[in-house]
Amino acid sequence: MILTPIAKAIAEAAKAPATMEYPEHKESLTDNYRGIEKLDIETCISCGACARICPNQTITMVDTETSRGTKQMPQINLERCLFCALCEEVCPTKCLVLTKDYDFEKYDRREFVKRPEELK
Ligand code: SF4
Ligand code: SF4
Repeated sequence: MILTPIAKAIAEAAKAPATMEYPEHKESLTDNYRGIEKLDIETCISCGACARICPNQTITMVDTETSRGTKQMPQINLERCLFCALCEEVCPTKCLVLTKDYDFEKYDRREFVKRPEELK
């Protein structure tokens, strides 16, 4: 009787690990995977459409230094982001896009708030 669980334990130990060593090995992502946003501050026209359409009040327009002077650009709180991509869809210049980057673990939750210059 006791042999059955021992045999099972040995069989499990002989299998390949079910988890991956991260970050050395990463999951392959699907084509439609939506990760951290990327912003091109030089082509953003400060229209604010992304902030207005965001369903979770994730985007705040903040003053940002660009080569065209100080402009209002989207700051994103990744902690609130649903990765729905509505902001990308509505952006008229396609300067705001969702990438396949999902690596954003932080020790301090304040680091989830990304200023426009950091969204690259
Ligand atoms: S992906 Fe969705 S939730 Fe995230 S910032 Fe864009 S509109 Fe808001
Ligand atoms: S990122 Fe796009 S939608 Fe948002 S303010 Fe800039 S141009 Fe407008």
